[in-house]
Parts: sequence; structure tokens; C-alpha cells
Amino acid sequence: MTTSGVDAAPESPDVPPTDGPTTRLAAQVAQRIEADVVRRRWPVGDLLGSEQELRERYGVSRPVLREAVRLVEHHQVGRMRRGPNGGLLVCAPDALPATRALVVYLEYIGLSVDDLVQARRLLEPLAASLAAERITEAGIARLRHRLVDEVHRADEPGVYAQDELHVVLGELTGNPALHLFIDVLMRLTSRYVHSVGRVPRAEVAAGKVRSQTIHAELVDAVVAGDAGRAEATMTRHIDQVSAWLSTNRRPRRGAAGRRPARMVEVPGAKLAEVVTAQIHDEISRLGWPIGQVLGAEGDLLARYGISRPVLREAVRLLEYHSVARMRRGPGGGLVVTEPDPTASIDTMALYLDYRGVTPSHLRVVRDAIELGCLGAVLARRDDPEVASVLRAALARSGEPTAPGRTGADHFHTALVDLSGNPVLGLFLRILTELWNRHTAAKSRPPLGEADAVRTVETQHGGILDALLAGDDGVARHRLRRHLEALTAWYD
Ligand SMILES: [Zn+2]
Ligand SMILES: [Zn+2]
Repeated sequence: MTTSGVDAAPESPDVPPTDGPTTRLAAQVAQRIEADVVRRRWPVGDLLGSEQELRERYGVSRPVLREAVRLVEHHQVGRMRRGPNGGLLVCAPDALPATRALVVYLEYIGLSVDDLVQARRLLEPLAASLAAERITEAGIARLRHRLVDEVHRADEPGVYAQDELHVVLGELTGNPALHLFIDVLMRLTSRYVHSVGRVPRAEVAAGKVRSQTIHAELVDAVVAGDAGRAEATMTRHIDQVSAWLSTNRRPRRGAAGRRPARMVEVPGAKLAEVVTAQIHDEISRLGWPIGQVLGAEGDLLARYGISRPVLREAVRLLEYHSVARMRRGPGGGLVVTEPDPTASIDTMALYLDYRGVTPSHLRVVRDAIELGCLGAVLARRDDPEVASVLRAALARSGEPTAPGRTGADHFHTALVDLSGNPVLGLFLRILTELWNRHTAAKSRPPLGEADAVRTVETQHGGILDALLAGDDGVARHRLRRHLEALTAWYD
């Protein structure tokens, strides 16, 4: 053992991830490290301890700790610094790799235009109204600058500068969850628009003029602090977008003539992330052929013109987000895998915690998503699946969803899943993951007690009764009150 506390770790990308006891233990240690960071409110740059200190603190072997550190690094919660004064440092996380992975995952599972529009309808008018309520001089300047920029860039082919206004409005709500989700929705919309194939130039130009007109009205309402008008204008705007998207349906996945969807990159992204995005896009364009070899390491180095360390970093990101995996040996290479959003959901939940999301931020977004889904489920309450799925979820309230967690999520997840919108389902999973991590970081989980579990069960039962009786108003009222109670526990 050197005084640095960290030995030079040999590169070991050849070892495939296993699901053995080491991995499970490492995952638990990673969660404990992350819970410590959450509890300490993200002291970016602080040293959590040397490798030796961390091994002693968590009572684990070096291989387990190293695996745990890899997970913490993937979640962008910490980074291992080598050398003297080395150890695990707290990081400022970046949501971009996880955002990209979720966007591509949603495309892979076949998110429809209707799902996308429904999600935008639930979140964007809300964002417009919240932005109007808390607009500042600086916010006004940003919005007006966006309008000018849209006009300046209107003639650039392939540029949809008008998308940015939506993301800025999300940011001006001051609600990190709304901001992140609107960013995901705009990326999905933009990728969709890029892939619809040839839209006549005149139509593209007319669409941009329509957007500019309504954006100007929207900005006026927000600047004037008129929340009602901002909300109504955004709803009208989404109706326009929806009409445009339905008349320009894109061809089937993999159909001839489909142009590659391009990911809009932020300046300053690390090279490995740019390569990750290119490989992501390549897989998307190929129609996500699970098991297909994209190329051996040497082929990929040549194709992307990068060094081996950059490729390895990119491969780690792709493996972590379940996009592709490097297979060794004869016939080896980068193999397309079945996507799994779990890792990206974890990363986003942690990112939102870092951004200082509060219980009331979460509640605003959960209200919008869950009340929106409740409407969709109420409309099909005569379908026997509705009653059976929700009753089954209710019966599982006491069952844990993960070690150390109560099963209070089952009911909400079932409700959102029944609405059939995968993007809303993913957003809810991010919010509940965040909620769970936040409460797990406390010394005494508020829902760990039998009383609390029973109260939750009773409240869920009340919502279900009203829903099945077709009493829209009461079902909504009970769901809203229940989310209010959950928020109080979160604090
Ligand atoms: Zn717009
Ligand atoms: Zn609940």
C-alpha cells in the first residue's frame, strides 16, 4: 500500500459485468456513498476519503470498493483522484449522457407522436405559467434575446432555433425537474422532426414563421407576468405543433429514405461523449439490431479517428447505459445490446438532487403527470384490466421495490403505466427514484413504519374506489391530497 491510498488500477475492460455477490455488494456500497453525498448536500470538490479509508468505512474488500467507485463515477457523483492526496472527490454531475441515453431509449421502445405530444401538453403550459409567475429582469432579457436569435437563424437549413425557447422557459420555472423533462421532450421532438424525411422548403419556412408569431405572444404573456395567458398560449402552440407532427408522420423505423437523426451537441462536450453520441445515432439508424457487431476495436478507432483511451471511455458509457458492449475474442467487437433505462434513471435522479430539487418542485411535476394519467385511466375505467392492475398494485403496497424500500410506488407506477405513455412512466420513475434516495439518506425513513404504510394503503384504496365509481372529481381530489401528504413526509 502506498501513501497515496490508491494503487494504479490496471485497465480491465475485458472483464464482463457479472451479477454475482460482489456486484450486489458493490451496488449497496455505491448507494451508501451516494446517500452520504446527498446528506452532505453535494460538497463539490470535497474528498470523501482515500481508497483505504473508504474500505475501512464500508468494511469491504478492494475489488468490491473499486466496483462501487466505478458506479459512483458513472452516476457522476464522485471521481477517484490518483496519486498523492488521492481519493474519491465529490463531482458536479452532468445530465447530458443520461439525457441522451433516455432519449435514445424512448425512441427504441417506439415512443409515438401522440405520447410525446401528451407529455408536452401536461408539462409545457404548466412551465409557461410558472415562468410568468417568477419572471425577472434577467429572464426577460434572455427570452427577448431568444426571439431575436430565432429570426436571425430562421434561414439556416436544418436549424430549429425555436426549440430553445421551450427549454429556456423550463429553466425559468426554477424547477430543475421541469427543466430536465422539457429538455428531454424537446430533444425527442427535434430528433423526430429531423427524421421525418423531406418536408418542402416552403412548408418548413411557413412553420418557422408560425412559431415566431406565437413565440412572440408567449414571451409577451410571460414578461407581463400573466400566468393564465402564458398557459393558454402555450396550449395553443402545442396544438399547432401536434397538427404539424401528425401531418408529417415519419416512415417506419429502418424504412428507406429515413435520414439519420442528429443529436444536438452542446459545445465543450468531452470527446468520448461526442463519440458515444455518434455510436448511439449509428445504432438508432440501423434500427437497433440487437447482437450485431458494429466493428472490432481497430475498426472503430479508424472510423471515428480517435485514440484508444477515448474509445474505451466511450465504450464504458455505452456499456453503462446498456446500449452496446465490447465482446472479446474471435468475432468480437462492439455488440449492440438490449437497452435498459435503469442506469440513466439513477443518474438523472441524482442529478436532480444535486440541482437542489425541493419537495414542492417534485410535487408540482408529479401532480401534472399523475393527474394527467388519472384522466386517461378514468376514460377507460370499464376495461377490466384497470381494476385488476390497480388492485394488484394495492395488494403489493407492503412489498419492497428494492432492498430497504417500501412498496408505496407500485400504485403510482401502475396508474401511470395504465395510461400507456412510456415517457411519462420514465419521468415518474426518475421522480420516485429521487424520492427514495432522498428518504434513504435520512436516519429514519419516514415510510418505514407500519402506520405510515397503512395510511398510504388507505389513501390508495380511496383513490381506486373513486376511480372505479367514475367519480372524476373525487378521484382527482384524493390523488392530489395524497401527493400533498407524501410531500410532507419527504421533508
Ligand atoms: Zn415553439
Ligand atoms: Zn402513494
